[in-house]
Amino acid sequence: MEGRRLLDDCVHCGFCLPACPTYVSWGVEPDSPRGRIDLMRALADGRLPLDPEVVTHFDSCLGCMGCVTACPSGVRYDVLIEETRARVEREVRRPLADRLFRSAIFALFPHPARLRALVLPLLLWSRSGLDALARRLGLYGLLPPRLGEMAELLPPLGARNLAASLPETTPARGPRRARVGLVAGCVQRVFFPGVNDATVRVLASEGCEVVVPRGQGCCGALSVHAGREDEARRMARALISSFEGLGLDAVVVNAAGCGSTLKEYGRLLADDPAWAARAAAFSERVRDVSELLARLGPVAPRQPLALSVAFHDACHVAHAQGLREEPRALLTGIPGLRLLEVPDGDQCCGSAGIHNLVDPASADEIGERKVDRVLSVGADLLASANPGCTLQIRKLAGRRGVAVRAAHPIEVLDASLHGTSLPGAPRTGR
Ligand code: SF4
Ligand code: SF4
Repeated sequence: MEGRRLLDDCVHCGFCLPACPTYVSWGVEPDSPRGRIDLMRALADGRLPLDPEVVTHFDSCLGCMGCVTACPSGVRYDVLIEETRARVEREVRRPLADRLFRSAIFALFPHPARLRALVLPLLLWSRSGLDALARRLGLYGLLPPRLGEMAELLPPLGARNLAASLPETTPARGPRRARVGLVAGCVQRVFFPGVNDATVRVLASEGCEVVVPRGQGCCGALSVHAGREDEARRMARALISSFEGLGLDAVVVNAAGCGSTLKEYGRLLADDPAWAARAAAFSERVRDVSELLARLGPVAPRQPLALSVAFHDACHVAHAQGLREEPRALLTGIPGLRLLEVPDGDQCCGSAGIHNLVDPASADEIGERKVDRVLSVGADLLASANPGCTLQIRKLAGRRGVAVRAAHPIEVLDASLHGTSLPGAPRTGR
């Protein structure tokens, strides 16, 4: 276990505590990074059983990696919590209802075809006016919390969600500067097809030939973060296969959690002799879309956008991939656009993979702080590079009756380059 050695890197200084949203919320040591590391050490040394009480402290961790960037000793908490979650999944039998709910999530979310099959009934529900009525009357709040959470999180849907598809190859406009493959994602592909459309258009205008390999599946990010190691490795092998042999200069991703996972495939498959080198080579070529565009430098002319934009750092872009300047640069290069920072921007919004689905109460408590900060900025639009963050922030603001317009930074750049319209305001209510 790599983690046993890494546990000793923690010197108990406590610098990570204020960076940890769960410690900020509850002020309890076992719900801090340092406290969780202590629990891991006690487990590894056999001084503590892996009982349900201990598991709650690992479950409550958002996996936001705020502690990783805050730690002066370079403790790899990301590796530690991943290994611990895998052990929890192997050794702990959760209560039946919890097992069923988690199984349902993993039978649905990593499968774009199944997600798409849900779109039509959801669209009919929304178009019938029943969704708006349920929100106005607060009926979703009467459902069991986990189901109510899912219903409330749903983004506005349209015909594009039913049949979105991307061309297999899009030529570069002007001289070709790179040939890149795009990871289409699962939730992104079905519920935010406009983000992928915008990504392809922007990349092409900046001189990239864009390949979207047919048949690509889930990258396994949700599975990795939930400790479902074998499933994640299966998905990783399949995704690597679909991008190999295409002569790509880079593999581009526009969703935060997917990007950080793809960059860790080398470690995920390090013990698999048949795949270790292939996975490491794949990870080497992965770039967040903002990272790739920053490296290439802008060539396409930007048109002014008279907009104030609040920028939300997605944890798995800022903390896990260390990208802060690059996504901002997409926006600051647009004439007329005013970029506004969200106070305490390093703190997670509570979405955190499937955390807001399995533990909505704690996710919402943490998310309310984020919504306070976002609304305090008073911007025209929120820019967020992760679909989960966008849904979480809009949902909580919607409960306050505030419709937060939100877009991926690449959609904002697309609007400047191509005059496309930005997403409108969502519904409000509960
Ligand atoms: S994880 Fe890092 S910052 Fe936190 S207590 Fe340990 S050494 Fe200090
Ligand atoms: S990953 Fe986030 S929630 Fe978990 S211990 Fe680190 S800072 Fe706290």
